[in-house]
Formats: sequence, structure tokens, C-alpha cells
Amino acid sequence: MNKHTIAVVLAAGQGKRMNSSVRKQYLLLQDKPILYYTLKTFEESFIDEIILVVGEGEEEYCLTNIVEYYKFSKVSAVIKGGKERYHSVYQALCQIEQQNKEECYVFIHDGARPFVTAEVLKSAYEKAVECKACIVGVPVKDTIKVVDVNGVVTHTPERSTLWSIQTPQVFEFDKIKTAYDKLMEKEKSRTLDITVTDDAMVMESFGEMPVYLVEGNYENIKITTPDDMFAAESILNK
Ligand code: C5P
Repeated sequence: MNKHTIAVVLAAGQGKRMNSSVRKQYLLLQDKPILYYTLKTFEESFIDEIILVVGEGEEEYCLTNIVEYYKFSKVSAVIKGGKERYHSVYQALCQIEQQNKEECYVFIHDGARPFVTAEVLKSAYEKAVECKACIVGVPVKDTIKVVDVNGVVTHTPERSTLWSIQTPQVFEFDKIKTAYDKLMEKEKSRTLDITVTDDAMVMESFGEMPVYLVEGNYENIKITTPDDMFAAESILNK
């Protein structure tokens, strides 16, 4: 359990679904940016180091107004992200490699999930130490249907097998980096035929080991649309 632990906190991207001129990670919840809450949990946890990935041109702003202002001493680098989420993750994985910190566990986390808890970090870490690849999720509450382009329901997967996946997603560094290298090669050769929406998918498609799941909690929401800000306020008020 004593390998180095690095959190990659993702705060790049446009956040277009928020319909706001302010990028969602900087929107305020009780006078503090969303990103503050996310970073605080990692700062106060057992995690050794944090790499913060932000939009191009926002590095200075974030360093001054978030990292230094709130004294997040574990943030070792603020780097620019890429076009898609997986590009941002890859930038961070390359940064870790450049720092010669390959002997670590990496916790990839959406900056837009401010309510991740210390308990979730701990249980994900324990599972990752045991199994090398672990993600956090909750059982779906609704019935999920697969619907075709004409709006016709094609089938209904068995609900008891379905989980809604969150972050953090935790991996032994070399395993996830190798899988991501293969993903990037595919993209370069224009043979990438999946839409990558999380890190476990990269491991499932290009990695060499199964990904395990630990149960998280329903409050670990990703702030995506304006409605989520109301939910976030009420979680904070609890
Ligand atoms: O867009 P989505 O809601 O999936 O984003 C999840 C997380 O990934 C957010 O915290 C967002 O800031 C981050 N992201 C990123 N780089 C991108 C797109 C999204 O760091 N190009």
C-alpha cells in the first residue's frame, strides 16, 4: 500500500451543456469555485500529489486564483488539457512519465465531481492495490433502454447488471499508460472506432487486465447542466 499516489484532476473542456459564460469548474458554490471542493478532498486525503489539467491559457489563472489562493500544497503541476477528455488524461499521463514517477497509482478524477469523499478514495485505492484497475460506480435506479436512430427501443438490458460509472478511476500507472499509448496510436492512424467517455473503456479496449468496480455513493455527481447546480447546493447544505 505504500506506492506513490497521484491524482489527475481534470478541469479542461468547454462544458457547453452548462450554458454559462463561466466555465463550469469555476462556477461558485457557496462562494467557492466547484474545483475548490474537488481539490480540497484530495488535498486532505492520503494522496501524495495532484496534477491539475485545465483549459489552454488558464494555467496561470488557476495557479494564482485556485491553487495558491486556497493553498493546495499537493498540486505539483498545472498543465493544459486537450480537445477531448481522453486527450487531457493523456497529457497528464505523459507529465507523470516525464517526472519519472511511473511507480505510482494514478487516480483520474473529473474536476466537475466536487463531492467525492475520503471513504470512496480509500476503498478505490484498496481495490486498485489488489486488482490494478478499479472504478467507482452506483447501481442504476431507472430502467435503461437501448434505442435506435429512429427512436425505436431495441432492447432492455437486465437492470441488476447495470452501474452508473463515476470517477475516480484508479490504475497502476504503467497499465493505464500502456493502454492509453495504444489508444493514441489508433487515433493517429485514424482507426479509432470507439467514442471514449471514460478511462475504464481505454483499459477494456487496449489494456491487459479486467477492471473492477467498487460501490460509491449517489452524491458524487458530475456537474454538467444548470440543474446539477441546484442538486449541488442541496448536497452542500446537508
Ligand atoms: O465533458 P465531461 O462532462 O465528460 O467532462 C468530464 C470532466 O473532464 C470534467 O471535469 C471536464 O473538465 C474534464 N474535461 C477535460 N478535458 C476535456 C473535456 C473534459 O479535462 N477536453
